[in-house]
Amino acid sequence: MTEFEYQVAKSSAFVLALLLTLGLQFLRPHSGSIARRGTGRHGGRDSARSEAHGPAHGSTDGRAHGQTVGQAGGQSSWRVNATAWAFNVVILGVVCAGCACAVSRWAEARELGLLNRVEMLGVHAWLALPITVLGMDFVSYVWHRANHRLSLLWRFHQVHHSDSNFTATTAVRFHFGELLLALPLRLAAVIVLGVSIPGVIAFEVLFAFANFVEHGDIDLPRWIEAPMALLFITPALHRRHHSRESELLNSNYGTIFSFWDRAFHSFGPSTSEAEIQIGLPGLADGLSARELILLPIRGVFRGERSEAPRL
Ligand SMILES: [Zn+2]
Ligand SMILES: [Zn+2]
Repeated sequence: MTEFEYQVAKSSAFVLALLLTLGLQFLRPHSGSIARRGTGRHGGRDSARSEAHGPAHGSTDGRAHGQTVGQAGGQSSWRVNATAWAFNVVILGVVCAGCACAVSRWAEARELGLLNRVEMLGVHAWLALPITVLGMDFVSYVWHRANHRLSLLWRFHQVHHSDSNFTATTAVRFHFGELLLALPLRLAAVIVLGVSIPGVIAFEVLFAFANFVEHGDIDLPRWIEAPMALLFITPALHRRHHSRESELLNSNYGTIFSFWDRAFHSFGPSTSEAEIQIGLPGLADGLSARELILLPIRGVFRGERSEAPRL
C-alpha cells in the first residue's frame, strides 16, 4: 500500500464519519439539546440545570461550581473547533505525515513487534487486525486516562473539554501539543505490537468513526444503546465524560471499546435520557481559537498550577 492510498483511506474515513454523525444528529438529536434550544435564555448548555437520570446523575447547578455563564452556542464553537482542527492538520502534517506507516514498514523489515513474530509462527494473518484494533485502542485508553491524572498532560487535554457544546466538531477540538505528545507513544505501540500498514489503516478508520459518533449530540434508541454500551462507547457514555462534574468527568476514557473502562474500574453508566452539563468549571464559554491555543500556558508565568480534575 502506497502513502497516497493510506492518506486517501484516512481522509475518506474522516469525511464519511463526520457526515454519518451530522446525519444522526439531524435524524435523532439529543432531546436535552432540543429542550434547551426551545427554552434556554442563554442559548448554551449552561442555562440548563443538570437532570441526569439514573446512575449518571448530576444534581448541581453549574453556577454553583463557579463557572462563567457564557453565550457560546453550537453555531459559534464549531468555527473554533474547525480552526483548531486545521491548525492540527498542518502541524501534524509537517511533523508526521504518514509516519505511522513508515514506522510500521521499518518494524516489519526488521521483524520487530509481537504480530510480526506471531505471523512467523503460522498464526492466521486475519487475526492480526482485531488484535491491532484491540491493542491500539487499549493504548489510547491508557493515554487518555493519563491525560486526566497528570497535570502537564491535563493542561493540553483541557482544550478538548473546554467546549461547552457536545457535538460532532468537538471530536476534532484538540490542542496540537496533546497530539504531538501522544505521537511517540502511538509510534512505540506500532513497533511493540508489530502493526502492519493495513492494521494501521483499520485502526485509524475505526477510531475516526468511533470518535465522531461518540461526540454526536445523538439519542440512540434504547434497544440499540443498551447492548451497544456493553462493548462500545456510545454518545451517552462519552457525553458523561464531558461533564462539568469531576465524578462524571473522571469516567469512560475509552474511544472504541467500553470494556477497558469496565475492566479498570473507570466505567460510568449513562443513557440518552441523561442530561449532562457540558464543559469545564472556571472557564468562560466561547473561547476564541487564539485563547484555545494559549490555554495550556494560562497562568504558567504567574506560577499557577493546573491540577488535573482527579477524584
Ligand atoms: Zn478526556
Ligand atoms: Zn471527547
